[in-house]
Amino acid sequence: MTSPMFEKIALVGIGLIGSSLARVIRREGLAGHVAISTRSAATLARAQELELGDSYTIEAKEAVRDADLVIVSVPVGSSGAVAQEIASALKRGAILTDVGSTKASVIAQMQPHVPDGVHFIPGHPLAGTEKSGPDAGFADLFDNRWCIFTPLPDTDPDALERLSEFWRRCGANIDTMDPQHHDMTLAIVSHLPHIIAYNIVGTADDLESVTKTEVIKYSASGFRDFTRLAASDPTMWRDVCLHNKDAILEMLARFSEDLAFLQRAIRWGDGDKLFDLFTRTRAVRRSIIEAGQDIDVPDFGRQAIEHPIKS
Ligand code: NAP
Repeated sequence: MTSPMFEKIALVGIGLIGSSLARVIRREGLAGHVAISTRSAATLARAQELELGDSYTIEAKEAVRDADLVIVSVPVGSSGAVAQEIASALKRGAILTDVGSTKASVIAQMQPHVPDGVHFIPGHPLAGTEKSGPDAGFADLFDNRWCIFTPLPDTDPDALERLSEFWRRCGANIDTMDPQHHDMTLAIVSHLPHIIAYNIVGTADDLESVTKTEVIKYSASGFRDFTRLAASDPTMWRDVCLHNKDAILEMLARFSEDLAFLQRAIRWGDGDKLFDLFTRTRAVRRSIIEAGQDIDVPDFGRQAIEHPIKS
């Protein structure tokens, strides 16, 4: 049997992402010991029932002691407080990383607390579902998904390579970019689609001329596809909106302009404009399938990629 990549890995936060990491770390034998920490006694007890790790504690500081790799998987608005809490217990030479959906804000919150000799490498796996909590995770969540690092100017290349290898063994492909570029890119590919989904589902919920029963009954005609995104964790998405404000506002401004264009084309019966846009967008969907980021079955492939919960 090959030796584990890290003697001890500490997972701070054990929701969808943390528990998926716990499962793949065990499956791949990546750690000698997995220490789990989470804020609430209830989540900790559930993680223990699911046998996600080797030791369990409410105290994040306890979990990270002697760890070679520390992965913080909490809502982005809490990353500063967590970094402050664990800082004095981090081992010299340890790698500290996170999985937060925004990067510039997480760096601004965490970096000031990172002691000398600890390698802080911000990261973000582009993999998830609308579910949360330790029951929601599964070991192949990261398969063929991208994990983006936003290294700091003084990031140690050996530590970055070690962390990259860890994520490759979790199934992911690796990319690096600067934090501002990450935040702008994610604003369009992830944050805006969620905001639009929250908005359209909210609008439908407020309508008086169409009853709520009709919205639910006839949802398969399009609405349903937005409800999956709009069912995502409210705390996580509140924090994403607050912590990637500038990039999201920039993308929302562009979105509003394009929507006005579409509105005008519909008002003036400009079928050519509508047809051209809809043809262009259909090609985007084809490119996503060709890139292996979705499968070409009806219903957005959801039934085909249903994952049983694995402990
Ligand atoms: P989740 O399932 O809701 O789990 C959140 C974890 O963070 C739980 O262990 C929770 O602890 C803990 N937590 C919540 N509030 C906290 C606070 N104020 N202080 C300390 N700990 C707190 O969330 P998730 O989906 O795994 O997301 C975790 C991170 O991954 C977020 O930064 C998110 O942006 C990022 N991310 C998410 C996705 C996705 O699709 N979900 C994808 C990529 C990246 P308790 O349960 O004990 O309260």
